[in-house]
Amino acid sequence: MADLTKESRDKVLDLRKGGKIPFFCYEFVIMILSNKDEFCKKSPDWPARVVGLTGGIASGKSTVGKMLSGQNFPLIDTDRLSREVIEPKEPALEELVRAFGEKILRDDGTLDRQEMLDIILTDAKARRLVEGIIHPRVFKRMDQALRQLAASGYDLVLVEIPLLFEAGWQDLFDYIVTVVAPDSACIKRLSRRNKVSRAKALRWIATQIPQRVKAKRSDYILYNDTELDGLQIQVNRLAEVLRGLVPKAREK
Ligand code: ATP
Repeated sequence: MADLTKESRDKVLDLRKGGKIPFFCYEFVIMILSNKDEFCKKSPDWPARVVGLTGGIASGKSTVGKMLSGQNFPLIDTDRLSREVIEPKEPALEELVRAFGEKILRDDGTLDRQEMLDIILTDAKARRLVEGIIHPRVFKRMDQALRQLAASGYDLVLVEIPLLFEAGWQDLFDYIVTVVAPDSACIKRLSRRNKVSRAKALRWIATQIPQRVKAKRSDYILYNDTELDGLQIQVNRLAEVLRGLVPKAREK
């Protein structure tokens, strides 16, 4: 069991206000992080600063990631890596089929993501099993990508990683940025984009650590509760802060 009160991150920078929020403003919550990947280790071959970009489902992480990429920050998208590791013939897909049977495959041999989603939304044990198959492989690819970027001279790299806290990977990152959005907006965006019912969107959100807990454990918070213009202003502030973290950061 992880005691969140032991966290060293006692202050977060709210990029909407530009000020510091003291720790005591946040709800005290203790959570069980049962899925910590003990094997995942930070490598000295990574760039000097590795920044994790996370947040609740459909909170706007990719939108923020794109805005930061637009400002020349190198970004690793672990969502893309997790899709790569379950492509046909990949060992992870074979392991999933051994665990759940052929019913998780479509006729063309690719993973039936809807079927898999239905399984993990209704069975927590199955969800942990799936995460245990996918997360180590995503870590391996992320590790490789970070080493390559460091070797190419990047001093600061962003990693977009939806389940950063759920996977127990928070200690891998020098800084953590969390995007938060009202649950109502996340439900609406998720239902619209993934064509799922409101009930399914709610179940999906319930599988993740609450946004307020993620925010409390972060260094920087972006609020995606308005139009994109409002988010862009916060991203611009964040970009300034990130550049300040590594004065000599080379942007290519
Ligand atoms: P996921 O958790 O699935 O990876 P995400 O956190 O990366 O999602 P996005 O993909 O950035 O979220 O956003 C979810 C959807 O909401 C997208 O269709 C995006 O275009 C839309 N969206 C994000 N922010 C806003 C906003 N401020 N106003 C309107 N639409 C938005």
